[in-house]
Amino acid sequence: MPLSIAFDNSYARLPARFYERVRPEVAPSPGLLVLNTTLAGELGLDAEALASPEGVAALSGAAVPAGADPIALAYAGHQFGQFVPALGDGRAVLLGEVVARDGRRLDLQLKGSGRTVFSRRGDGKAAVGPVLREYLVSEAMAAFGIPTTRSLAAVATGETVLRERPLPGAVLTRVAASHVRVGTFQYFAHRSDEDGIRRLADYVIERLYPEIAGTDAPYAALFESVVRRQARLIALWLSVGFVHGVMNTDNMAISGETIDYGPCAFLDAYDPAMVLSSIDRQGRYAYGRQPQIAQWNLARFGECLLPLLSDDRDKAVELVVERLSGFAGEFETAYFGRFLEKLGIADERPGDRDLVTGLLAVMQMGRADFTLAFRRLADLVDPEADTEPFLSLFGGNAGVEPWLTSWRQRLAAGSRSAGEAAAAMRAVNPAIIPRNHQVEKALDAIIDGSDGSAYIRLLQAVTRPFEDRPEDADLASPPRPEERVAATFC
Ligand code: AMP
Ligand code: MG
Ligand code: MG
Repeated sequence: MPLSIAFDNSYARLPARFYERVRPEVAPSPGLLVLNTTLAGELGLDAEALASPEGVAALSGAAVPAGADPIALAYAGHQFGQFVPALGDGRAVLLGEVVARDGRRLDLQLKGSGRTVFSRRGDGKAAVGPVLREYLVSEAMAAFGIPTTRSLAAVATGETVLRERPLPGAVLTRVAASHVRVGTFQYFAHRSDEDGIRRLADYVIERLYPEIAGTDAPYAALFESVVRRQARLIALWLSVGFVHGVMNTDNMAISGETIDYGPCAFLDAYDPAMVLSSIDRQGRYAYGRQPQIAQWNLARFGECLLPLLSDDRDKAVELVVERLSGFAGEFETAYFGRFLEKLGIADERPGDRDLVTGLLAVMQMGRADFTLAFRRLADLVDPEADTEPFLSLFGGNAGVEPWLTSWRQRLAAGSRSAGEAAAAMRAVNPAIIPRNHQVEKALDAIIDGSDGSAYIRLLQAVTRPFEDRPEDADLASPPRPEERVAATFC
């Protein structure tokens, strides 16, 4: 079947100052690395056509499929706290939008397809490592049930890109509910372009928050909705030990999806101060600082909306401050809700939150592996079960034993049977996450050894994260000291 994509490009119908039209660069020798056939199906795309030479040419940017209207989006952003008035898609091109089988409108974006007007001194290209890393981690996040951009395909370009060393180039096809970011609003706000802000707000309301269209105060409702979605998103990140690494305002999507997987990482041992990104020298984006940073970014978003909220600036500020103060409550509800699910508790009672903080405190002291501790806990709902595999994770810290006793008492007093509780816990506590050392190993095998087998195996494992599979026990294990990744690069 020839490649046919039913594009409908709503962003390209916005005013011209929202983007620049661009032609992706022609990859000299495109070759398919990975194709997400399941996602292709959800998008109503023919996987065979995408894997054909014509499809691979389209996924590399070498050929522009019929109906696409490639544009680079304008945006600004705070990078590590510093405002940059013009960032924009410097190495990405929005090919267009498709409407998925479930009715959702989704962006198809090529990342790494060459220079745009926003490239500044960059080459607009992407190296195969970061492309395959984003593919893997975004698909793992989707499998965890966490809102995220998706990955449809990764294609090698046949070109060499220069980073710390020459590396093979690649293009990622990213799928998103929308690529509008906090930084997109900042772009117009910085230019005092009130009409631009309003059109952008109307656009995202219609596309992402249709339930508030036509209500009395849609812009206040938009702010409140975005605050709520972000609070829930960050709670979910923390529940799987995810560290985004670069929570700049241009990397925070208005849709509430996780976006822009750079030097992101997952905790092995539980440590709220954990920073892995090599570019985060101040620890600004440490695991435990993510809620606070999200709120800071949302304050920047609120500032952009001020002219839409009221003609009286003081009133508008008051409104933003008031709605922003709701973040903490939304976050805590989502955070404890999720962590109580991780503990098998469905019906929160007074004192239950202490079980969460109590476990995390002993995990931190004992440097317990975050993922394995929760996973192995499900086995201990059964009072006869051997506690050793769980206790051995805590480095001999004695505090875990009284904790375990209290938790078992609490579960026994709850409404669920032991079997129900264990099954519910196994459905929210992954056995397998993309462990940093496994990700690095799999990428190294491709880049240095041209061997993709470890990558494909890891991808298959992390996209079925809630199953115990003895054959994947090595992938579920924490790194040995010599395997530990000290810093992630992108
Ligand atoms: P990021 O760190 O991925 O959030 O990107 C920050 C900004 O730098 C965005 O405007 C990107 O488009 C731009 N950028 C990153 N890498 C490149 C590159 N290789 N060429 C051009 N622009 C880039
Ligand atoms: Mg970015
Ligand atoms: Mg990036």
